[in-house]
Amino acid sequence: MLSFFHTRHNCYCAFCKSPRRIYRRKNISFMNVVGSALASLVLMFALWQQYDPRVLIVFVICLAISEVFVKIRWRLSVVCRSCGFDPVLYLKHPEQAANKVKEQLDQRRQDPKYLLAKPLNLPAIPADKAKALQEKGKGRLVSRSI
Ligand SMILES: [Zn+2]
Repeated sequence: MLSFFHTRHNCYCAFCKSPRRIYRRKNISFMNVVGSALASLVLMFALWQQYDPRVLIVFVICLAISEVFVKIRWRLSVVCRSCGFDPVLYLKHPEQAANKVKEQLDQRRQDPKYLLAKPLNLPAIPADKAKALQEKGKGRLVSRSI
């Protein structure tokens, strides 16, 4: 019952292994439906000062807006703030996800804010394996910490 109120979930980044918190919900819950109903009732009395059947349209619009916000909130919370790894993008387009991580790591390298920060725990590839991968021409190395 207590986990019903916990909207965030503790986990680790799949790439840099840093601890993070992500939102559990991808879609609206019963409480969002109740909130949308209340918001549409308030809007109805504010606009028409009595019961009006157009409240159903307002209710559907409120539901759609809350669904969009919950979706955006979940989507933004999934992306790692430390290394920029995006698991959703990785499933669809691994190359684009690798480019995003590379950009984020380059920015992090140049930003003086991170000079004394704890270094990221990036996956390490031994030098001989990295060389073999580059000779094969399969993909590009995002980072190599050895
Ligand atoms: Zn990460």
